[in-house]
Amino acid sequence: MLLEPRHEEWRMEVRAFVEEHVAPWAKAADREDHFPREAVDALATKGWLGLRIPTEYGGSWVDDRSYTIFVEELSRVCGSTSITVLAHVSLGAYPIVVYGSEEQKKKHLPDLASGKKLAAFGLSEPDAGSDAAATRTTAVRDGDEWVINGTKCWITNGGVADVFVISARTTPDIGPKGISNFIIERSMSGFEVGKHEDKMGLRGSSTTMLHFSDLRVPHSAMLGDEGAGFRQFMETLDGGRIIIGVMALGLAQGAYEKALTHATAKRDSGPMIKQQSIAFKLADMATKLEASRLMVYDAAARFDAGIPITKEAAMAKLFASEAATEVCTDAIGIIGADDLDAVDVDRFWRDARLDEIGEGTSEVQRLVILRIIARPEG
Ligand SMILES: Cc1cc2nc3c(=O)[nH]c(=O)nc-3n(C[C@H](O)[C@H](O)[C@H](O)COP(=O)(O)OP(=O)(O)OC[C@H]3O[C@@H](n4cnc5c(N)ncnc54)[C@H](O)[C@@H]3O)c2cc1C
Repeated sequence: MLLEPRHEEWRMEVRAFVEEHVAPWAKAADREDHFPREAVDALATKGWLGLRIPTEYGGSWVDDRSYTIFVEELSRVCGSTSITVLAHVSLGAYPIVVYGSEEQKKKHLPDLASGKKLAAFGLSEPDAGSDAAATRTTAVRDGDEWVINGTKCWITNGGVADVFVISARTTPDIGPKGISNFIIERSMSGFEVGKHEDKMGLRGSSTTMLHFSDLRVPHSAMLGDEGAGFRQFMETLDGGRIIIGVMALGLAQGAYEKALTHATAKRDSGPMIKQQSIAFKLADMATKLEASRLMVYDAAARFDAGIPITKEAAMAKLFASEAATEVCTDAIGIIGADDLDAVDVDRFWRDARLDEIGEGTSEVQRLVILRIIARPEG
């Protein structure tokens, strides 16, 4: 894909840094369930936890293409670090940047930009995953406060974040318009981090349940207007889905490069790539990567330009995440059992599988796409 020289230079800068400061933690993150704190802190020293936070709030705002390149390069070396940073930047901090009041931005964004605090996004619940409008967490008004009760599940950064954007039902029985979002903090009384998930992939990332028990927040903690929560998180998910697609692309790229290195290595019987079955597989993998790259970068550019991208974001995520699973499966097949542990490629397959689930499963993306293409205007 054709990029401007400044974007190519940025890619090289990010690649060099993550190879040195993030890649060394990737295997421990996966094999030992180690939260990659060292890698996250290193990214913070560069100001890269604030890449989508405006400079007036302490961030180091970059254009969409630069952020997309950053996520691709980060994912190419470590999925656990990548999901931690994505949940912080694109899901936790982003809604505050877009919907937050001046007071909320000044209060939260500088610490999120510097990495002093991490952010998370709490939408999913035990009975509200794909159907996020079924939120059962409630917020009941009591004077100038809201009293929140409920449980969130599968929350990335649940065990390590300090700031959480969460959804709650503020008006019963009126569907999505009865949902509002709040900014809550770990230090608040009534907040408890629940079970840590022992996952198949992205094992180093912190994924937990969250419990709210008579958690009181001031009215000023509400994000935007009452009843705007569903619209806010649907818009947040549009951007989040593109970024999950970029993450899938980066993971697949990482696995592909390992397979290519393996297939081109010298052997007594000649490099494996001399066999047409292996060579064709690699050509298909490279083609899928290129198609994914075109889709996710285009969707990201449209998002930044303020063009509605619900369909394009769903398509990019659907394609890139399913392609990533296929590419990683083929990489494992090419590398075979011999070097699997040393080459550390199974990690990419296990990490990439999440991208077909998080921020809406592949089935949900197909429903979103169908809802739009079935309209008379397409
Ligand atoms: C590693 C990880 C990190 C996550 N991080 C976060 C986070 O930070 N914040 C957050 O809020 N959530 C997070 N999630 C939750 C994630 O968004 C949900 O898992 C996802 O939305 C699916 O919901 P569910 O697991 O409840 O599956 P369900 O909704 O129960 O779906 C189960 C199956 O049924 C299918 N299905 C459901 N409804 C339909 C339908 N109408 N038509 C056809 N098929 C359907 C689904 O595609 C799926 O295959 C995370 C999940 C994982 C695995």
